[in-house]
Amino acid sequence: MRTVEIPASRPYRVLIGRGLLSQAGELIRAVSDAGTAVIVSGEHVYPLYGSELERALDRGGFRLLHWVHPSGEKHKNLETYGKLLNYLSENRIGRGDLLLSLGGGVTGDLTGFAAATYQRGMDYVQIPTTLLAMVDSSVGGKTAVNLPAGKNLAGCFHQPKTVLCDPNLLSTLPEREYRSGCAEVIKYAMLCSPSLFRQLQTASAWENPEQVIECCVAIKRDYVGQDEFDVGIRRYLNLGHSFGHAVEACSGYACSHGEAISVGMAMIARAAAEKGICTPDALDALLALLEKYKLPTETDIPLDQLQRAVLSDKKRKDEQIHLVVPETIGRCRIIPVPVEELRDWLRLGGAR
Ligand code: NAD
Ligand code: MG
Repeated sequence: MRTVEIPASRPYRVLIGRGLLSQAGELIRAVSDAGTAVIVSGEHVYPLYGSELERALDRGGFRLLHWVHPSGEKHKNLETYGKLLNYLSENRIGRGDLLLSLGGGVTGDLTGFAAATYQRGMDYVQIPTTLLAMVDSSVGGKTAVNLPAGKNLAGCFHQPKTVLCDPNLLSTLPEREYRSGCAEVIKYAMLCSPSLFRQLQTASAWENPEQVIECCVAIKRDYVGQDEFDVGIRRYLNLGHSFGHAVEACSGYACSHGEAISVGMAMIARAAAEKGICTPDALDALLALLEKYKLPTETDIPLDQLQRAVLSDKKRKDEQIHLVVPETIGRCRIIPVPVEELRDWLRLGGAR
């Protein structure tokens, strides 16, 4: 088992290892004296792993309840959140009990937000079941649901008690979801790890998924540890996201998050190369790596539409957009770009 300590205001451990699901009872009991554990899971994931988790939790001496939500980003909303809170109150769940997210980022964000707000806050544990959730969304304490006006507009910071990553759970993940997670892994490599980048270029990169996941979680730890509340250095983790979120939104979410981030990274690197900020070799290597993982690097969404979407992003500050721009493999910088120059960046990135 691998362990990454997250030095947040409330520190916790991310545990990574094959077969951890079956040890969940003991591992969670070590960080919680809750009487009841409520498993929150999606309609696809619960039938796959719910009973194994329940057997394990039983060994930890928890009284168990479960609540299953419909799958999909469109259900990460106030309605689902309200139903979950009502379920908790109807079942007399108290602040001393525990929520357990078993699922991808949708389940994790929803469970975390419910845990943060139910009776002014209770503990929760993350058991991520997608690659994206293992390397990204389960770590760092960002919780949220979407509003009709946009993604993650209602949310707060609330760190989990622990995170259990069992790569065996990825065996049932649909290919497209797996690739979506790979885009975030490539993001970490491009951002600050030439060695992870080189590893991903090899055929044997995923022989040991625990090691890849640990590497990504350790990178996220370094940013979250310095900037838990996302007011400074944590923004580097948005590499590919300024343009990527716009691609995702403009596609009407037909493009998965990872696919959109892939396009976003390719665009910002292309524009940076055109402006002499990113080396041509780094651009070529990034595009080749994204293509190796069958991730898209271009979009046919019109420039005007992308521009509007980037400008409506909640991360916009005054009349500037802060873009995370690659310089070479493993090194990026943040450049404040006046909104009137944004169009030029998008055009150089390949938008027409
Ligand atoms: P997801 O939770 O929707 O899961 C993707 C799909 O895979 C779903 O249909 C799910 O039912 C299915 N699935 C999950 N695990 C499975 C498994 N092991 N086997 C078979 N099917 C499985 O999507 P995601 O990509 O995990 O997460 C995306 C969400 O994460 C977005 O809402 C995004 O906003 C959020 N997010 C949050 C953070 C954060 O810091 N909190 C960071 C990144 C993303
Ligand atoms: Mg992302």
